[in-house]
Amino acid sequence: MTLSGEYEWYMTSSVKDEISRGKQAKDLDLLVDISIKVMDPAPGNVEQIEAKARETGDIGRLSKTDIDILALALEMDGTVLSDDYSVQNVATALGIKFNAGVEKGIKEVFTWRWRCRGCGKFYDEEMPDCPICGSELRSVRKRSKQIL
Ligand SMILES: [Zn+2]
Repeated sequence: MTLSGEYEWYMTSSVKDEISRGKQAKDLDLLVDISIKVMDPAPGNVEQIEAKARETGDIGRLSKTDIDILALALEMDGTVLSDDYSVQNVATALGIKFNAGVEKGIKEVFTWRWRCRGCGKFYDEEMPDCPICGSELRSVRKRSKQIL
């Protein structure tokens, strides 16, 4: 995907920090040609994203930056650019548009469950290990909603 001047581009200050620290240095070349406005989401929108992410089970997979990006998109009716599965999942759950770039986007909203590798019991929340047998848990997807 190429960033173009056809759209207005925004980023959160947390993304800008990551870029300036070199974490996303490879993307910087794409950004220099277009002017990008830096804007941060309102706290209420951040809370809404966090609440939805807890509901879908993605909260532990999202960074503060991911949450900021989603909250800003919600606020501005914008499109999120992310190939991160959890970002896409929360976006879909809230009706936020996203562009997955080269990755194929998901077409359904799912929630995460955790299953014990030892005894096979399912849990709705992530835990360090199984309270019954002490084995490691692994995340499994539970489909909740089909989006056309
Ligand atoms: Zn177990």
